[in-house]
Amino acid sequence: MNLEKIKLLRKELHRYPELSGQEIETAGRIKKSIEKCHNIKIIENIGGNGLAVITEFSNSGPTIVIRCELDALPIEEVNDFEYHSVNKGISHKCGHDGHMAIVAGLVSWLDQQDFKNGKVISLFQPAEETGEGAPNVLNDNRFSELNPDYIFALHNIPHQPIHSIITLNGNFSSTVQSVSIELKGKESHSAEPEHGVNPALCMAELIERFNGLNNKDPAKEDFRLCVPIYSSMGVKSYGILPGLARSITR
Ligand SMILES: [Zn+2]
Repeated sequence: MNLEKIKLLRKELHRYPELSGQEIETAGRIKKSIEKCHNIKIIENIGGNGLAVITEFSNSGPTIVIRCELDALPIEEVNDFEYHSVNKGISHKCGHDGHMAIVAGLVSWLDQQDFKNGKVISLFQPAEETGEGAPNVLNDNRFSELNPDYIFALHNIPHQPIHSIITLNGNFSSTVQSVSIELKGKESHSAEPEHGVNPALCMAELIERFNGLNNKDPAKEDFRLCVPIYSSMGVKSYGILPGLARSITR
């Protein structure tokens, strides 16, 4: 696959994004893009809709995994370039289309190389955005049997110079944990608020308390940011005092 074809593949993947756990067509497009490779084996439906493409050279040696992601985000595309998303409410906003095209290009490049030792697994991981794909791949016996020596996760970083590859000692980024909290109060007519239990203040306090847990210095070992990402409460009606609130922080 030459560079032009890799760019076209990226645009095709961008045009037809799919959500986490639903990346069936995307996996099909990747398979099709590497169908001319002769020396590969493909493990399908790994950890969901994932693909593991194995390029094995003659002699034994280390097994290296290069990993990218298949899924897109539930965000409406507002761009109007000709390859904009045709799937309503879904778009590639994290660059996974680019990662897949790069790794598919790598599969095709490796297929033409005459390396002697080891094995490269090009892993197209499903469901990255929900956090479900990685453990599902790890728990798939067909993946553990590959017994990789090294795993490299590929991800773009905006605002860095073109053609640069960035690695860091230690951790590259923080892990993410999400906390979903449901507050159950008691709904009432808003003319009689004394008969209800409104979760509003509790919700406000939660957001403030999480904010108080922040340690904003990235150089510190216990660097952490608690970010409110979703809040909902009540209905859009003057007459009803809310009884239920939901809040997600990560
Ligand atoms: Zn991403």
